[in-house]
Amino acid sequence: MDKPKTTRREALRLLGASVTAAALPRLATAAGPDFPPGAVIRTILKDYAPSALAGGATLFHEHMSLRDGFMVDWLRSAAETRAANQPPGTPPRPSGPAQAAVPNVLIDEDLMADEMAIARREGIGCIVDAGHPDMGRDVGFLRRISQRSGLPIVASAGFYSQPFYPADLGSWSEDRVFEEIMRQVRANPTGALGEIGSWDYITRDERKVFRAVGRVHRATNLPIFTHTGIPGKSALEQLDILEDAGIDPRRVVIGHLGNLADPNTEIQRAIIRRGAFVGFDRQGGQGDASVVPMVVSLVAQGYADHLMVSSDLSSPREIKRNNPTGGGYAKTLTVFAPKLRAAGVPDEALHRILYDNPRRFLAFVPKIKRTA
Ligand SMILES: [Zn+2]
Repeated sequence: MDKPKTTRREALRLLGASVTAAALPRLATAAGPDFPPGAVIRTILKDYAPSALAGGATLFHEHMSLRDGFMVDWLRSAAETRAANQPPGTPPRPSGPAQAAVPNVLIDEDLMADEMAIARREGIGCIVDAGHPDMGRDVGFLRRISQRSGLPIVASAGFYSQPFYPADLGSWSEDRVFEEIMRQVRANPTGALGEIGSWDYITRDERKVFRAVGRVHRATNLPIFTHTGIPGKSALEQLDILEDAGIDPRRVVIGHLGNLADPNTEIQRAIIRRGAFVGFDRQGGQGDASVVPMVVSLVAQGYADHLMVSSDLSSPREIKRNNPTGGGYAKTLTVFAPKLRAAGVPDEALHRILYDNPRRFLAFVPKIKRTA
């Protein structure tokens, strides 16, 4: 009896499989994901073909510009909300160092240009600023630190969350919110809608903003990333509202889900199974201990393509100048990623999470021309 012949197609398949297995780390680096024709990543200075930013990690949620006093207000609101969420009778937490005394470094142009240059040297290829006007984000400042450092920066648009809305937003129609965000998008080259938040349980005004953001997405095709204030609360409803507005969940990151320290990752998996990205975006520090096992588990279940990591940096304690070994805008790459690797996350998955997923998320086919 003749030996069964290997067909040409089968031979190629076998050859392909063995070549792929042997060369995986390099191949994964070289090949990268596919992008839709005409897709760009829109930074403040220029539009990039997404493949042009393959050489560095992309951080999808950081802060380089916030008004003076913003973090003081933020920490006060956070403490009030935390206290309101405690079971009755919980003793008050000892108060931390006086935040008002901490200088705001996110207005110091020389310092921030330096921090961006260091991040670039440490392997960051592109970085998203998650602020917008209600947080006192200054696009001119971002443009100058990008020019001086050579690090591409994406600027965002939107409204943040209830405590930070313009005082009269409650009386605005949804149309008005839509128009105001469109005005922001037209005023500056805008590459994302974010961070769009619910501070505690999502409020009536926050739902209105989410619906309006959904409409802005349909008018612009810009990707959306969110802030979920209290771990787990309203994360699923955020995605509900955006899906009801007709958005493909693959264009959305539901953010701050590392705060939801659940080893079973129920909410995270529910979001992933609907197609969206899950943001573990306060990394490179204390929060890593509970997030590493969640990432390990989600990667093992085949969900690496849905994970997004970043550090949400805003504190002077975390910048390189004040924390040379553990800080800096690259700490997601330099501090957090090595912990994932040590916990067994394969390099190929790490590459997708740090280099490919954020570019797939940010890449969009523009519906409106860039301004300036
Ligand atoms: Zn943030």
